[in-house]
Amino acid sequence: MSSFRPVIVSGRCVALGMALASCIGADSTQAQEYLNGIEWKEPAIVTPGVTNDAPPSDAVVLFDGKDLSRWKNGDKWSIVDGALVSGKGMVTSVDTFGDCQVHMEWSAPTVVKGDGQGRGNSGVFLMGMYELQVLDSYQNKTYFDGQAGAIYKQTPPMANVMRKPGEWNTYDIFWTAPRFNEDGTLKSPAYITALHNGVLILNHFELKGDTPFNRPPQYKKHAEKGPISLQDHGNPVRFKNIWVREWQPVVGTQIRKPFLRKGNEEIPLDK
Ligand code: MG
Repeated sequence: MSSFRPVIVSGRCVALGMALASCIGADSTQAQEYLNGIEWKEPAIVTPGVTNDAPPSDAVVLFDGKDLSRWKNGDKWSIVDGALVSGKGMVTSVDTFGDCQVHMEWSAPTVVKGDGQGRGNSGVFLMGMYELQVLDSYQNKTYFDGQAGAIYKQTPPMANVMRKPGEWNTYDIFWTAPRFNEDGTLKSPAYITALHNGVLILNHFELKGDTPFNRPPQYKKHAEKGPISLQDHGNPVRFKNIWVREWQPVVGTQIRKPFLRKGNEEIPLDK
């Protein structure tokens, strides 16, 4: 039987034959603790999906492979083998969202046709007007701020993570909606973070405005919430497992100034 044991000397821990880390806190009555003075609202309880790709309990499922009841113009697109196939005109969600997280899966057409912007082109439009590009960017050169994962005409993705045509890609999008002042001026821009097949491609990118082809980006005051739209660019791009959850910022109230606690003593930090 080992006789190794920690020994407390003047409030400090001295290890005898064992890791020092194992005795941290052994003298907790004298330990100094930092307290930030913030009273936090309890974080919401969200039940995760069976897998991380499945919708969590607070998500709105926009497409589960069965019907298009949550989409406008859905009758112009088709469902084939549980996948939504791009048809005539853009489809737009009935639900609208502000700050949100979006999960979707998409596949460029298995039969490769065209090149550049003409090959497997579609797009995810946040709030119906800010495009995260969908394109077959597997061995298909185009302008970099127009390839898959680009914020169209504003920035390329940080990496090309494209799977082969016909294989399924995932996008996980973290969106901060822009805010506008009463007079229509911009209060704060939109930001986007995105993962393509689990790889970070956009990191809190600040959008310069909307994403048209034929003029510079601009912000124009719009509603606090907007739909998700999927682009028709004449190519049979497929989509599945589309869900969205609005996220709420952490809420905390500074109820007192930060301080240190040592035993029963409270030590202010603002001397
Ligand atoms: Mg597009």
